[in-house]
Amino acid sequence: MKLVISSILVGSAASFSPSSFINGGGVSHRQQRAVSSSSTTSLDMKYKVAVVGGGPSGACAAEIFAKEKNVDTVLFERKMDNAKPCGGAIPLCMIGEFDIPETTVDRKVRRMKLISPSNVEVDIGDTLQPNEYIGMCRREVMDKFLRDRAISYGAEPIQGLVTKIDVPEDHKTNPESRYTIHYQEYLEGNSAGVPKEMNVDLIIGADGANSRVAKAMDAGEYNFAIAFQERIKISEEKMAFYEEMAEMYVGDDVSPDFYGWVFPKYDHVGVGTGTVVNRPAIKQYQKAIRDRAGDKIAGGKIIKVEAHPIPEHYRPRRVQGRMALVGDAAGYVTKCSGEGIYFAAKSGRMAAEAIVKLMDGGKRLPTQAEIERTYIADYDRAYGPTYTVLDILQKVFYSNNGAREAFVELCNSKYVQQVTFDSYLYKKVQGNNPLDDIKLLGETIGCLIKGYAIAKPDAEFSNPVESLKRL
Ligand SMILES: Cc1cc2nc3c(=O)[nH]c(=O)nc-3n(C[C@H](O)[C@H](O)[C@H](O)COP(=O)(O)OP(=O)(O)OC[C@H]3O[C@@H](n4cnc5c(N)ncnc54)[C@H](O)[C@@H]3O)c2cc1C
Repeated sequence: MKLVISSILVGSAASFSPSSFINGGGVSHRQQRAVSSSSTTSLDMKYKVAVVGGGPSGACAAEIFAKEKNVDTVLFERKMDNAKPCGGAIPLCMIGEFDIPETTVDRKVRRMKLISPSNVEVDIGDTLQPNEYIGMCRREVMDKFLRDRAISYGAEPIQGLVTKIDVPEDHKTNPESRYTIHYQEYLEGNSAGVPKEMNVDLIIGADGANSRVAKAMDAGEYNFAIAFQERIKISEEKMAFYEEMAEMYVGDDVSPDFYGWVFPKYDHVGVGTGTVVNRPAIKQYQKAIRDRAGDKIAGGKIIKVEAHPIPEHYRPRRVQGRMALVGDAAGYVTKCSGEGIYFAAKSGRMAAEAIVKLMDGGKRLPTQAEIERTYIADYDRAYGPTYTVLDILQKVFYSNNGAREAFVELCNSKYVQQVTFDSYLYKKVQGNNPLDDIKLLGETIGCLIKGYAIAKPDAEFSNPVESLKRL
């Protein structure tokens, strides 16, 4: 989408270049490029935005930039058919809000079993309306849909691994400075990457938990869990049990600080678990979740084994100059539920919308302070309380078997189920009933006392290195 003009017009076009809005008409890099390219009669008048990572956060950011015709959008994805290791559970509101066709949803979960350390089962789902469900997706399907949509709006896809980013020293103060992205491009039919580089004006880091963009911008570290999942193909008869059913197991055997899950996919189940405090033992916890699911998945064939880090909290810095992090790269996964897909898509969209607005039709580039005042402030206002509440719940209910027994018992309450589903499915705090809230507080204390009395103590483990690493 380049504006092609005759070389005669280059001089006058340069005086209307976008950069003249920033520095009062001084000679800009854009104007210099225009002069040097005059012999080819091609003049690129647009700012270039690079979105690094084509998961939900990157695809949803790229879509918004691509819709702004005065911005050139490049979407880097190291593997266009990437199957992100993931349970793939998404809230109902995501389908409507991001216009996702129901065909990308493998299963509609309407029933859940929550299973305590002593195998007490609580059935959840009675409070759901007939049209309400948790969507279960395969990420290779959903990510591709979101990415293809961004490309259809005009984002230029590059199948390439971003290896390094040169950040100019004056990038926070000089809007003329540009970032240089180094990448290995993987062209069709050639497995070896071709080293290339590209200069861009703004970067969205949507490259997940091992983000290179975060490293380049010195965003700081976060604690992370390691999550492990096996995709297991089970017989059709056994699959019938999981038709609309997901299971969550808690106990020190399946995880000392998280939960294990069995989530249904279109012809198999995803069986997994995660931990922060004892990551080297993840395979032992994985065996335990398989054992707990027992007969229900017996005879199943493991068709894929996958593992990946899950961030525990925000990065210390999410914006530096004109580089902004979204999704897992920023650290937007909730504790307790380990949910990150919706927050990735939402943060990608929010960051891009804020930046496009600040760019005012492609006329100028935003400053760090402007991005912080808009995208970061709006995101934190909308979701900060959710992260805090779920962090507290994880600390209270996942820390030992007594608390886990109490958690499962509490979930027997229809009120708890209603409030939990409403806030998960719609990402809004629903109008709670104060009387029920007081009753719930009493029940919580009662369940905790009872849970501590009956539960078997957690197995001890010694992992000082991992534990000390927690920030
Ligand atoms: C085992 C497991 C189970 C989970 N289950 C759930 C669940 O059920 N529900 C839920 O909501 N969340 C779940 N999560 C969390 C969820 O997967 C993430 O929060 C979500 O994927 C974040 O999306 P993202 O777009 O920010 O990053 P990602 O999905 O990680 O996407 C990053 C993309 O960037 C690409 N990339 C990375 N580095 C580069 C590079 N240098 N150059 C070019 N491209 C690059 C990758 O190939 C990838 O496609 C789970 C996570 C794990 C590990």
